[in-house]
Amino acid sequence: MNNYPSGKFYRNLGFYLLFLIIIISLATSFMQRDVSPQVFTYSQFLDAVERGLVDKVVIVDRNIAGEMRDGSRFTTYVPDDPDLIKTLRERNVEIEAKPPTEPSWWARILSSLFPTILLIVVWIFLLQQLQGGGSKVTSFVKSRAKMVDPEKVKITFEDVAGIDEVKEELKEVVDFLKNPRKFQRTGARIPRGVLLYGPPGTGKTLLAKAIAGEAGVPFFSISGSDFVEMFVGVGAARVRDLFTTAKRNAPCIVFVDELDAVGRHRGAGLGGGHDEREQTLNQLLVEMDGFDPNQGVILIAATNRPDILDPALLRPGRFDRRIAVPQPDVLGREAILKVHVRGKPLGSDVDLKVLARRTPGFVGADLANLVNEAALLAARRGKNVIGMEEFEEAIDKVIAGPERKHVIISEKEKKIIAYHEAGHALVARALPGSDPVHKISIIPRGGVALGYTLQLPTEDRYLMSKQELLNRLAILLGGRVAEEVVFKDVTTGAHDDLKKATEIAREMVCEYGMSEILGPLTLGRKHKEVFLGRDIAEDRNYSEEIAYAIDKEVRAIIDRAYEQSRDIILRYREKLDALAYRLIEKEVLNREEIDEVLGFYEQEKVSAETLAQSQDEGGEKEHEG
Ligand code: ADP
Ligand code: MG
Ligand code: ZN
Repeated sequence: MNNYPSGKFYRNLGFYLLFLIIIISLATSFMQRDVSPQVFTYSQFLDAVERGLVDKVVIVDRNIAGEMRDGSRFTTYVPDDPDLIKTLRERNVEIEAKPPTEPSWWARILSSLFPTILLIVVWIFLLQQLQGGGSKVTSFVKSRAKMVDPEKVKITFEDVAGIDEVKEELKEVVDFLKNPRKFQRTGARIPRGVLLYGPPGTGKTLLAKAIAGEAGVPFFSISGSDFVEMFVGVGAARVRDLFTTAKRNAPCIVFVDELDAVGRHRGAGLGGGHDEREQTLNQLLVEMDGFDPNQGVILIAATNRPDILDPALLRPGRFDRRIAVPQPDVLGREAILKVHVRGKPLGSDVDLKVLARRTPGFVGADLANLVNEAALLAARRGKNVIGMEEFEEAIDKVIAGPERKHVIISEKEKKIIAYHEAGHALVARALPGSDPVHKISIIPRGGVALGYTLQLPTEDRYLMSKQELLNRLAILLGGRVAEEVVFKDVTTGAHDDLKKATEIAREMVCEYGMSEILGPLTLGRKHKEVFLGRDIAEDRNYSEEIAYAIDKEVRAIIDRAYEQSRDIILRYREKLDALAYRLIEKEVLNREEIDEVLGFYEQEKVSAETLAQSQDEGGEKEHEG
C-alpha cells in the first residue's frame, strides 16, 4: 500500500539502533571483565589487612570492595565477623559503609521486559519485511483491499468486447446498485455474489475494472492471494476487515480476483496442513452469509478454476449468479481486435476479419498482445502505419510466445475438428428420439476438448432406455466416423469419445443387464475407496470366462453403434460437408443454424425400421452414401 521512503527509513533506523545497542552492551561487558577487581577469599583479605596493604574499603551489606595501597582493587564476601571493624580500625583502613542499593524501579522493569520488547521489535520488523510494505503494524491485518476511485478508472464496458452476454448480465448488477428501488419494488432478489469464471486472459479482471468505471459506487478490489499469508489468522482478519469496510461504504462493490487462491476445496491435497487457508475461507463464508444484499454490497469474484472451488462457495445465497466468460469466437475476436487497434494507425491492407479468422483459440489477452507486437514490429521497421505483414508476423510470435498455455490450432486441424463435431451433430440429428443439438463449437477450450457438440434434453429424464443408450453410443462415435470417412485417417481427437462410449457399453452389459447374451445380471461390484477420495475400485465377482464374454459383448455393442453411425454419415455426406464448412466459417453454430444446414424434417429422419435393420445387418450398408 503506502510504501513511503520515510516509513522505510525509520524502520531501518530502528533496526540499526537496535543493532548498535547490542554491540555496545557486548563491548562494555568485555571491557569490564578486563579491569574487574580481583576476588579475594576472606582469609586472603584478612592477611592483606594484617600486613597493612589495604588502603580503604566500601562495605555494602556483606560485600566488601576495597583498594590496596598500590591502587589495585579487590572484592570479597564477609562472613558474620563481629571483629572485622575492629581489625580494620587497628590497621588504619578507611571504612565506608553504604546501605544495600537496589536498582531503580524503571531499570528493573526495563530489564525484566527487555527480552519481550526485543522479541516484539524483531517480530514487527519481520512482518513488515515479509509484507514488503506498510509502515504501520496495523496495516498488516487490514484487508489491503484497494479502493478504486471511479473518477480515475478510464475503463468502461466499451473497452470490453466480444462477450456481450456477460456484459449484459453485469450491467444488470450495476443497475441494481445505481437504482436499488427499482428492484426492491418488484421484490426481485438481488444476487449476493457474482462469480465470473473462464479461461485466463478472457477479460474477467478487465470486466471488473469496467464495472468500477461504470457503477458510480465505491469499488474495492483485492486479489485472493492477498488473503493467503504465512501467519495463521491474518487472512481471516483481513476478510473481516474487508467486509466491515465495505458495509461502511455501502452501496459498493467488492471484487475478489483469483478467488481460487482462497476458495480451494477444503481438505483437498494429501497431508497438507492448510489451516490458514481454511480459516480464511470459513471467514469468507461467514461474512457472505452475514450480509444482506439489500444493504447494497455486492461481491464479485473471478476465477480460472471454478472446478476446484469449495462447493460451499457455490451454495445458494453465496455466489448465486455464475457467469461464464468464454473464449471469443470469430466475431468476438474481431470486436476485441477493433478495441485494441483503436487509436493506432493501420495500413489500408489490414483486414481485421481475416485476422480474426486466423486466430482461433486466441483469447482477449492474446489479441491485445498481438496488436502490441505488430505495433512494435512496425515501429522497429520505421513504418508510420501497422501493416497486415506485421500482424501476420505477430500472430506467429504470439503463438510461439511463452505466455500461451492453451491450444492453438492450425487450419488443417480446424478442418478435422469441424468434421469431427459435425459428425456428432449429424448423427444426433438423424437419430429419432435423440436430444436436439443446441450448439456446436470448434473453439478450443482450456486445452482439453478441441471442440464440442452440446445436446440438451427437451425434458428432465431419470431413466434411459436401451435404445437411447445405443443412440448415445452412435452419436459419440460419430466424430471419429466422420474423420475416417472424410480423411481416410483418424486422429487422437476422439480419445475421450471412445472412452465414454466404452464406459456406457460396459455399464449396459455389467450394470443394467441390457445384454441378451449375458442376461439381466449385475456383474462386478463398485465401491468407493474412502482413503483415496473419489477413485472407484471394482471388485470382480465373476469368472475369467464371464469376463471374456463381457469384453466380447461390449465390443459387439460398440461395433454395432459404429456401423450405425457410419451408415448415417455415408448416407448424408453432403449434409456433413455443409455443416463442417459452416463450422469452419463461423466456429460456433446455434440450434437454428444447425437446423438450417441439416434441414431434417421428422419424416426425413432415419426411421425406426432402418435403424433396426442397420443393427442387424451390420456392415452391409457401408457404401451406400
Ligand atoms: P483474465 O482476468 O480473465 O485472466 P484480463 O482481464 O486480465 O483476463 O485480460 C488481460 C488483458 O487482455 C486485458 O487487460 C485486455 O487488454 C485484454 N482483453 C481480455 N479480454 C478482452 C476483451 N473481452 N475485450 C478487450 N480486451 C480484452
Ligand atoms: Mg484476471
Ligand atoms: Zn468428439
